[in-house]
Amino acid sequence: MVNSFFILIIYHLRKIDGCAIIIIIKKDVMYAKVIIDQDAKALDRVFEYIVPDDLDIVTGMRVYVPFGSRILQGFVVDLCDKCEYDPSKLKKIISKIDDFPAIKQEMLSLMQYMAKKNHLKLASILRLFIPAEMREGKVKELFETHYLFNAEIEINIAKNAKKQQEIIDYLKNHNNHASSSELNQFGYGAIKALTDKCILIKEKREVRRAPFVISETAKKVKLNVDQQKAVEKITEDKTYLLHGVTGSGKTEVYMHLIERALTQGKNAIMLVPEISLTPQIMSNFKSRFGDAVALLHSGLSAGERFDEWKRLFSGEARIAIGARSAIFAPLENLGMIIIDEEHEQSYISESNPRFDTHDVAQFRARYNKCPLVFGSATPSIESYEKALQGLYSLVELPVRANGKELPKIQIIDMMAEIRTGNSGIFSNQLLADLTNVVNNKKQAMIFINRRGYSSFQRCRDCGYIAKCVDCDVSLVYHREDNRLKCHYCGKQYKVLTRCPKCGSENIKNGAVGTEQVVSKLKEYFPGVKILRMDNDTTSTKNAHQKILNEFKNSLPAILVGTQMIAKGHDFENVVLVGIVDADQSLYHADYRSTERTFQLITQVSGRAGRSEAEGKVVLQTYSPRHYVYKFASNYDYKGFFRKEENIRQTSQFPPFTRIIRILFSDHDENYVRELLKVCYTEIEGLKERYNNDIIYLDAMKSPIKRIQDKYRYQIMMRLKLDNADKIEEEVFNIVDKNSKTSVFFEINPQNLS
Ligand code: ADP
Ligand code: ZN
Ligand code: ZN
Repeated sequence: MVNSFFILIIYHLRKIDGCAIIIIIKKDVMYAKVIIDQDAKALDRVFEYIVPDDLDIVTGMRVYVPFGSRILQGFVVDLCDKCEYDPSKLKKIISKIDDFPAIKQEMLSLMQYMAKKNHLKLASILRLFIPAEMREGKVKELFETHYLFNAEIEINIAKNAKKQQEIIDYLKNHNNHASSSELNQFGYGAIKALTDKCILIKEKREVRRAPFVISETAKKVKLNVDQQKAVEKITEDKTYLLHGVTGSGKTEVYMHLIERALTQGKNAIMLVPEISLTPQIMSNFKSRFGDAVALLHSGLSAGERFDEWKRLFSGEARIAIGARSAIFAPLENLGMIIIDEEHEQSYISESNPRFDTHDVAQFRARYNKCPLVFGSATPSIESYEKALQGLYSLVELPVRANGKELPKIQIIDMMAEIRTGNSGIFSNQLLADLTNVVNNKKQAMIFINRRGYSSFQRCRDCGYIAKCVDCDVSLVYHREDNRLKCHYCGKQYKVLTRCPKCGSENIKNGAVGTEQVVSKLKEYFPGVKILRMDNDTTSTKNAHQKILNEFKNSLPAILVGTQMIAKGHDFENVVLVGIVDADQSLYHADYRSTERTFQLITQVSGRAGRSEAEGKVVLQTYSPRHYVYKFASNYDYKGFFRKEENIRQTSQFPPFTRIIRILFSDHDENYVRELLKVCYTEIEGLKERYNNDIIYLDAMKSPIKRIQDKYRYQIMMRLKLDNADKIEEEVFNIVDKNSKTSVFFEINPQNLS
């Protein structure tokens, strides 16, 4: 029976320009290659199944299949008339999960690419392509009953059936059509009576749950010369680096590029680092493109996310806007891909499956033969290096769109403040400038990249520091909740009033956080609106928008926040930006820390003076002579780049070398240590063949030795670029062969904790 031959006809219904076309594809199909939707190493390959003749399966569909004694979900990644496995042993697909192929052809190719490039399991990649809620079966389409008025039929209703007459009048006034929620006011009896008489025709319609967007009519602006040039240049299917200073009007350029793609009948994706932080971009796009825009980000409810995804999938929406995961938007025929603030860390997924959005975007741009734009005021060293090498095409917007100068950055030496007797959080200069802002009824932003009240609590007598029992990191003091919190696992502890080790009550608080800045500002400026925006104040839905709105509508006002306030915001009354502790990101044991500091200063400074009033930035530091401050205060990106490039080259760091970190973590410490040892010995063996290419190789405990009670060990290596691909492949195979569980494999890691 298995060898018998049959023909499966697949009806593909597609709507093109409103008329339905039926495409009949004739295929001789018997077998489906299926990837099982399980995150298990042993299942990470293709399994073959028989397609029953009564199931019209197409490639990309999700299906239920028997697996051992269980029934599991799977993805059909291919169909063919031959099988590789013994056909008499194959089982049949049980049923379809959806009646549409959720994974499109392009995404199947992308899966192959990512599996190879990022060493990921196939199922874990496919999961990225569809809304999580859909996989878990938690969301479905939402339907609502609609009623159409049947004009063909003679109306005969009793004279006293007033409600029925009201319904008919209502429908006549509403294009002969209304939803059940509109008609419910007339009572169910009347609706039913009319439906029974066929005066009303019932119809089930899908309802799209739409995310909330503040609608603001975007100012219609005429492109300036630089913007015009940028739009004209960005046409080919290659990668562009759009380097535009803060306020240069990159958003306007993006909108023109997307508009052009739409006019060409194509679709577009635009990524922003964290969408909830930039509601303005959202409302600009909505007001320009209306329902053609779909939003994909984590702030949506499950139903909203599913429906936005469906709108893209079906072609109803043609522009996907969202954070990192929107790069997987189910759009075909892409004509433009844009990654705004391309230097942002959030474009690299930190949790499994790890991938770099830049790579995925490049794959999709190549596949669709469309332009890809990386935009930033502070491109990553890596991207700018590529632009200089000619791999990316550089496009520049060197001045602000409003013609104004960038705000002046004043550097304050906090050591000098201490010498003159000011050991507070704020320098005298910052206090004086804040007072001015308040008196002139303007606004200020205060940037401090640390949430909570203070970074730790320590005993002054014996040095004891409160740490999380599961994570081996010091706890952060949150005064509002009167708690110590672990920022890695969220666990909460009682505040120290006396040292558990020596009994001393002499407890010292560590470095200043947002809470403390707010409470000190309230002492200095009683009655002034002071808002805080960080992870703690924005955990509820739309909290970002509420805070930003409140800020926007208050004069004077001060907004205190972490890097959340650094990006994208365009408030016309902000005339002062204070950077409380600029060094905070500088002294991390991380080759990117200077770059990051430069980016943060530039971004946050860019929030000041965006309209008529002149802006100013006060930057407080304990190391005022560090080169990063010289370049940042002059907005000298190119100078900074040359300096940084030089340092990376001489110290042999990326982008001139490649760092590989392999992170092993498990509850069983002995197991990880053993695994580490085995892998390390074997990797060391590579030195025989690649001695010249391996600059550095070592195995060690991770800087944070334990997170959520998992012990963490790592192998670090730094490679010359020539043979890096080959070595990486071999290293991966060694690790893969030896480990039972999944191991994090990172290239040029963003964060070395
Ligand atoms: P960027 O993203 O480069 O920091 P934005 O896109 O936020 O800059 O633009 C900054 C401001 O300049 C916005 O208020 C925007 O409306 C305005 N703008 C953009 N282009 C023009 C233009 N051609 N003429 C006048 N104003 C413009
Ligand atoms: Zn003590
Ligand atoms: Zn913890």
